[in-house]
Amino acid sequence: MADTVRPIRAGPREVRWVDLQAQRHRLGGRIEAAIADVLDHGQFILGPEVGTLEDRLARFSGARHAVSCASGTDALLLALLAWGVGPGDAVAVPSFTFVASAEVVPLVGATPVFVEVQPDTFNIDPGSVADAVEVARHQGLRLVGVIAVDLFGQPADYAAVGQVAADHGLWVLGDAAQSFGASLHGVPVGTLAPVTATSFFPAKPLGAYGDGGAVLTDDADLAERLRSLREHGRGSTKYEHVQVGVNGRLDTLQAAVLLEKLSIFDDELLARQAVAERYGAGLADVVGVPAVMDGATSAWAQYTVVLDDRDRVAAALGRRGIPTAVYYPRPLHRQAAFCSFPRTAAELAVSDRLSREVLSLPIHPYLEPAAQDRVIQAVRDGVS
Ligand SMILES: *Cc1c(COP(=O)(O)O)cnc(C)c1O
Repeated sequence: MADTVRPIRAGPREVRWVDLQAQRHRLGGRIEAAIADVLDHGQFILGPEVGTLEDRLARFSGARHAVSCASGTDALLLALLAWGVGPGDAVAVPSFTFVASAEVVPLVGATPVFVEVQPDTFNIDPGSVADAVEVARHQGLRLVGVIAVDLFGQPADYAAVGQVAADHGLWVLGDAAQSFGASLHGVPVGTLAPVTATSFFPAKPLGAYGDGGAVLTDDADLAERLRSLREHGRGSTKYEHVQVGVNGRLDTLQAAVLLEKLSIFDDELLARQAVAERYGAGLADVVGVPAVMDGATSAWAQYTVVLDDRDRVAAALGRRGIPTAVYYPRPLHRQAAFCSFPRTAAELAVSDRLSREVLSLPIHPYLEPAAQDRVIQAVRDGVS
């Protein structure tokens, strides 16, 4: 959207892609006060807010340990480094996802094997993971793990993925960059997989005012290694290095912002759920609406519909001043940086089709019903 000067608060019928100003207004100066506290104490790196946030994230997700870090991408990377994934190893990753899910694999010298997603949930197809074991073997590689992505906010089918993983001795890493706050059969994201990576990029359901991320796990040894890796592989003192690491810490300022936002997060998740239900009721008869698995809740990072004439409908909404986005217009197995890596089939037909047919509509906790009804009407007019 154009960067024009806009009123701080949206009008009742104005549709914004996200509304961080409404959230800031609601928090009523608490974020500014939290930032001022950090400026006063001056501990910008691993200050007290970082530890407090980690405790709160662990409590919120049910995980024993939360290790914060600089981004969701670093969270994935740190997990692979902590496990020692490297050359000769292959990792199953869905092709229909954000690039970060896959890029960390070649960064550690391992090989991604692109697998298929399910057409209705957009999440990894567990059957495809079993195929990846064979594909890796044919390439002289050993499939060691699977990165299950919780696309658009809904947890992957961790029971099914976990079964395939157990059958083949694979680890499971949850890419929960979009799903922090969701759950499956009452189990919160953060404890659905043995290790879960999440992101606090500003547009994620729990977003900071800059980059941030965290790894959630019950494994105390792994958490210890992650804490070392995010600080140049440090040992028990700062200039002792016991492994090769990175600079991957979360800023204290971002932790302070996140602590305030976490205090209203449950309520925001309910508001997102209400928006998603209103879309479902208003659109299910004219476009493909996202399927939520039995027993699952979504954090609704995106509300993504499937329709034949995606580009025409997007243009029609644009003419009415309604922003939309395409996540993702090209699957990873068709990207220049990734097309030479193996995949489970010559054609990943579902990933290819979704990349042509998906359209994400505005969803955030502050979307007013009257504004949302304009979106619904515009989609209905656009497809007819
Ligand atoms: C946003 C995102 C990431 C990366 O998170 P950053 O904090 O931007 O590095 C990884 N995976 C998925 C699915 C994402 O949507």
